[in-house]
Amino acid sequence: MISERHVAIVTGGNRGIGFEICKELCRVGCLVVLTSRNEEGGRLAVDKLDHDVDVAYRRLDVTDSKDISSLRDWILETFGRVDILINNAGVYLDEGVSVFDVDEKIMQDTLAVNFYGAFRMCRAFVPIMRQNGYGRIVNVSSGYGAISEMSGYVAAYRISKIALNALTLIMADELKDENIKINAVCPGWVHTDMGGDMAPISPGRAAKDIVHFALIDAKGPTGSFFRNKRPIQW
Ligand code: NAP
Repeated sequence: MISERHVAIVTGGNRGIGFEICKELCRVGCLVVLTSRNEEGGRLAVDKLDHDVDVAYRRLDVTDSKDISSLRDWILETFGRVDILINNAGVYLDEGVSVFDVDEKIMQDTLAVNFYGAFRMCRAFVPIMRQNGYGRIVNVSSGYGAISEMSGYVAAYRISKIALNALTLIMADELKDENIKINAVCPGWVHTDMGGDMAPISPGRAAKDIVHFALIDAKGPTGSFFRNKRPIQW
């Protein structure tokens, strides 16, 4: 089957903001590929979405290159295109930890998901977007990755999101003459397993802000960083 509808891939779609992004993309009529590293959780998440929406499930650990190539092969065979990529999967492993104490393994594990995951996903799927002359990529980032908001502690997470922000700018510049847009979005402090119970923003509201940039038209921004749909400083 070759699809004429927008095909959207979401990483970390089984829970938190990623699940709500899938829900919102289904609501606006996309054909959603919900991916997760945990197959049981991912399939349960698909079951929670309405049965009359178009959602497919694929297992994907963003740190595993083999998973990424097999997803790419399946997407090409099944849809022949990918229009939207939301790099949402993330870990937050050094909450409150000093840069002088953080374990190097934690730094590596954090970069492996938050930076290299998105880097690999973009390099796997941008060539398909280029073939179709259309693409929208949203990197789910954080104010913790803004140089303008930088402070002490949480170095692994902060540095991983700075790297993700730089990737956004570098790719946006290289894609500036094509109809492929890539932006970073900080969802704010969101009530999820990562954000905790005190967080004021619902995952549904965060998802709407993120999906907004997945649906921008050819005149929309690229290489920018947003919160609450407004540009913020890198
Ligand atoms: P969450 O509830 O902890 O969910 C994180 C998601 O990432 C889960 O689906 C998790 O899968 C997935 N994930 C982790 N490592 C993965 C891997 N190697 N491969 C594939 N998926 C993986 O967090 P959240 O709050 O929804 O966060 C989503 C994004 O928003 C993250 O990028 C985060 O940095 C960003 N963000 C969140 C907040 C906040 O306040 N919550 C603020 C700013 C930015 P498993 O279920 O398998 O662990």
